[in-house]
Order: sequence, then structure tokens, then C-alpha cells
Amino acid sequence: MTAEAGWDVVVIGAGIVGAACAWRLAGHGLRVRVLERGHPAGGSTGRSAAGVRAQFATDTNILLSRHSIEEYAAMPGSGYQPAGYLMLVPEAQWAAHLAGVGRQHAHGVPTEVLTPAGAQRHAPFQTGGLGGCTFCPTDGFVDPHGLTLEYVRLAREAGVRFSLDTPVTAISRAGGQWRLTTPAGEVEAPQVLNAAGAWSGEVAALAGLEVPVRPARRMVFTTGPLNLPRPLPMVFDLESGVWLRSEGERLILGRADEADVGWREGMNWAWLEPTLERALGRFPWLETASLDRRASWWGYYEVTPDHQPIVGRMPRVDGWLNACGFSGHGVMQAAAIARVIAQEALGEEPFIDIGPLRYERFTAGALLSPDIQV
Ligand SMILES: Cc1cc2nc3c(=O)[nH]c(=O)nc-3n(C[C@H](O)[C@H](O)[C@H](O)COP(=O)(O)OP(=O)(O)OC[C@H]3O[C@@H](n4cnc5c(N)ncnc54)[C@H](O)[C@@H]3O)c2cc1C
Repeated sequence: MTAEAGWDVVVIGAGIVGAACAWRLAGHGLRVRVLERGHPAGGSTGRSAAGVRAQFATDTNILLSRHSIEEYAAMPGSGYQPAGYLMLVPEAQWAAHLAGVGRQHAHGVPTEVLTPAGAQRHAPFQTGGLGGCTFCPTDGFVDPHGLTLEYVRLAREAGVRFSLDTPVTAISRAGGQWRLTTPAGEVEAPQVLNAAGAWSGEVAALAGLEVPVRPARRMVFTTGPLNLPRPLPMVFDLESGVWLRSEGERLILGRADEADVGWREGMNWAWLEPTLERALGRFPWLETASLDRRASWWGYYEVTPDHQPIVGRMPRVDGWLNACGFSGHGVMQAAAIARVIAQEALGEEPFIDIGPLRYERFTAGALLSPDIQV
């Protein structure tokens, strides 16, 4: 069978990361083909809680989010709402958290440092055990579905060709070209971008490569309508791991179950009780909330061993790029990642130093510490 040729890069996956990357790659003059197993935003992107925040501890993550949020803020239809993120920080983590705030300020992120009493103006909560709180008014949420479709539209305008309902089922390399097999035929190009989200490890395995990304199920519980005096920003209690925010007149809330890894499908309702138990300790007023089972949902985080993304060229593998393993932060970082990947594909210096996120940390046995996790 003759493979379809004439492309510079094939992108695998049309979630927010693949779609944004396709647009940026085309913007740099590359001929780009996207192969998507289902439809745009049909993977984790369409199931995210849509939060965007620049409140991270490391320079790289702060910058990836800051630049992404700026891009979303300027995009019509992005749904960007600067509702803010309020972090409730336990005493033991407070000093380290403040060091992160210093880095955020150095990068122009307007995070405010608050006492637990002062933070009550954003949301009511019990203050026990907290060293302090931080609030960033430019954090908030977006419409990940709308954003992805906008990147697809922009990419198409720039000449990118998308094939939907087209899974990549085999990958080989010969004569300086990657050859990707799909039920609709074969496509070849000298460069491949693995933007397959939670499936990135499996996609890499098709090419005989080991990219350590695993699926980890996350639940989002939705309450019935509540009579709150004002909408709540994203509130993240770093002590209990519980997060919640307003979604219209309801609240959505969740907490990671670290043991819930692998391809487990559907809502795990058994996780509701331990989540609520922890949540009620911090937010006792939740006692009166009802649960809307049908409006609750689940999806896969795409988790790496150190909960940090894998970005850039695969060492010693010609023409293979990764933009995956965002470990729950892919929506908030996709826009900047796309710019970085386009520069990387052309052999240019990325505008943000992605050194810490390169694959080499696994071969060097130099895993990172997880950044602030939600
Ligand atoms: C419950 C939940 C809450 C979250 N909350 C947030 C949040 O508040 N903020 C945030 O930033 N992030 C959040 N995330 C994480 C976020 O959703 C992901 O980091 C982000 O969507 C990753 O985007 P992606 O494009 O890399 O992956 P995806 O959106 O999963 O896209 C990957 C695509 O690859 C396709 N694909 C897979 N295998 C193949 C194949 N063999 N051939 C062709 N195509 C293939 C899939 O169909 C899919 O469309 C959350 C995730 C979940 C599940």
C-alpha cells in the first residue's frame, strides 16, 4: 500500500494539546496532518474541570500557564472567566508555598497572600491547621471544548488536514520517515507528535517506545442548585485535597483517588463518601447540598511518575516529539505548549525553558517533585 506523503508532521490526537500544536506548527510553515481516533475534545479535554491557574511552584509551570491564560483571555469564544483560584495552605507547607508565590510575582502573576480570616471574602471555610491562603485573580476557568474547536478551525484555515474517527493502529520508521497505519490507510512524515493524552503511553508503544503516561480516573461530583450569596472561585484545600468551585448555580467538587489508576470506566460512587467526609471538615456548609448524579462525570488524568508533563524531542529517536503526561494540567498549559512544540519541531530554542520537562529526566533517574496538584 502506498502511504500518503507530503507532510512534515503528523499529530496524533485532537484534544486541546494536539489541536493547538497543529495550529502553531502550521503557523511556522510546516505541513501538518492530524489523526484523531474519535472527535476533537472527545478525550480528557472534554471532561476536564476547565480550571486554569498560574499558581505553581516552578518557573516552567508558572510560565506555561501564564502564557496560556494570556492567549485564552485574548481569544473570542474561549469562555475565559477570571473567577480566581483560592489555595488553602496547611502550616507545614506555608513557607514553601510562599517561595512559589515569590516566583509567581517574579513572572508577573498577581497572586495575593491572605490570612485565612481575610480569605473568607472569597469563600467560607474552616481555618483549622492552615498557615495561610493565596488568591490569584487571573486564574479561573475556560471552555475547553470551545477552545479546542477554535484551534481546529484556526489550524484548518492554516492548511492542517484532520482525519477524525481515524485511530493510529501501527507505527514504524524507515528511510527517515514515520509511517502511521490507520483503518483508512497509511500516512508518512519525518516527524510525529504524540499528543494522545492518557493514551500516549500506548501510542508510543506502537512505535516500540516507552513513554511513561498512565490513565488515572478522576471523578467530578456536581451538587444540585444552591442558594449561595455569591459564586465561589476554584477553592483548593491543599490539606484535604478537596477542590470545589461554582458552576452556574451549582458546585462541582472532587478529590484525587491516587489508587484509581488504569482503564477503569464509569463513575466510582464509592469515592463520594470519603470525598465528602474530608470536604465537610473544611466546608461544613456543604451538609445542606444535594447531589446531582446525572450532572456528575468522570475522565482520565494522564499521569507520569512525577506528575509533570513530558515535552519535546524523544532522545535518540529521530523525529519523535512528545506533548503529553500533563497529569491534570493540560488545558491550562496547552496554548504555551503549542508554541514550544512548534519551536522544537523547527530546531529553535523554545521560548520557555522546558529543560525540566524533557524525557531525559527518566533516563537520568532525575524525576521532579510534583508541583502543586489539584
Ligand atoms: C475530571 C478531570 C478534571 C480535569 N480538570 C482539569 C482542569 O481543571 N484544568 C486542566 O488544565 N486540566 C484538567 N484536566 C486534565 C485535562 O483534561 C488534560 O490534561 C488535557 O485535556 C489533556 O489534553 P490532551 O489534548 O493532551 O489529551 P486528550 O484531550 O485526552 O486528547 C488526546 C486525544 O488523542 C486521541 N487518541 C488516543 N489514542 C489515539 C490513537 N491511537 N490514534 C488517534 N488518536 C488517538 C484521543 O481520542 C483524544 O482525543 C482534568 C481532567 C479530568 C479527567
